[in-house]
Amino acid sequence: MTRIFRFAPSPNGELHLGHARSALLNQRLASESGGRLLLRIEDIDVGRCTPEFEAAIYRDLEWLGVTWESPARRQSEHFDDYQAALDRLKSLGLVYPSFMSRGEMRDHIAARSDARNPWPRDPDGAPLYPDADRRLSRRERTRRIASHAPHAWRLDMQAASELAGDRLSWQESGEGPGGEAGAVPAKPEIWGDVVIARSDIPASYHLAVTVDDALQGVTDVVRGQDLFYACAVHRLLQHLLDLPAPDYRHHALIVGADGRKLSKSRGDTGIAALRESGHTAEEVRAMALEGLE
Ligand code: GLU
Repeated sequence: MTRIFRFAPSPNGELHLGHARSALLNQRLASESGGRLLLRIEDIDVGRCTPEFEAAIYRDLEWLGVTWESPARRQSEHFDDYQAALDRLKSLGLVYPSFMSRGEMRDHIAARSDARNPWPRDPDGAPLYPDADRRLSRRERTRRIASHAPHAWRLDMQAASELAGDRLSWQESGEGPGGEAGAVPAKPEIWGDVVIARSDIPASYHLAVTVDDALQGVTDVVRGQDLFYACAVHRLLQHLLDLPAPDYRHHALIVGADGRKLSKSRGDTGIAALRESGHTAEEVRAMALEGLE
């Protein structure tokens, strides 16, 4: 079977060394296994993604010597696919509209927790979504949506995990932040009721990435360790939507001189900035892959 890899950047900032590491590792593994490399532009967040950043992705990848199959898949052109998956989750009764603003959520949590009884948080440190909206009656949900109350669609994690049982796992050939490897048990409950879609966009990152990996026949997902725990949500969605599970390889992140993860807003490790300051593509490739087995 031909293995299919993908590199899936979001055009909401400049590519940095961490992206170069993912792209180059995908290319290396695809070429070593006689496989294919796809490029997917993850631009569902139409407010933050721009054509300029997308053009910069193609330019930087070409400069780095990464080659992919044309055309790239642009998620913004495939909302129908995500809508179909969302409708299926809705028909299973696993999705509900959530209405709390950030401020309302903060107040709700402050009134119900303190230092001795801290509110549960997800692996990224964000508080789990309160269950108040999950308990709203169908009538109240319909009323609020009809009155144009801003909302997002969330997965009823408890119902979804009960449906999936506790036997979900994924095959990890890289490593999680805690050294997890091999068959890793999926624990999506640690994320609470994740956002699955917005009112104006029928997908969130979790839904779009899961649907696209399946539609594109991806067999190997190679990406940064910051997405390791999110994999549990993807594995759950694959199960609920009857989609195959690819193998996963999460690689170590490149950290900045201050020991923090690189971000798109910090220009110093941007591929374009490195090129403009006179580094050759060969040097940047070596920097991106340094320390990687
Ligand atoms: N679009 C995501 C990002 O740029 C990566 C998604 C993935 O590889 O699953 O961080």
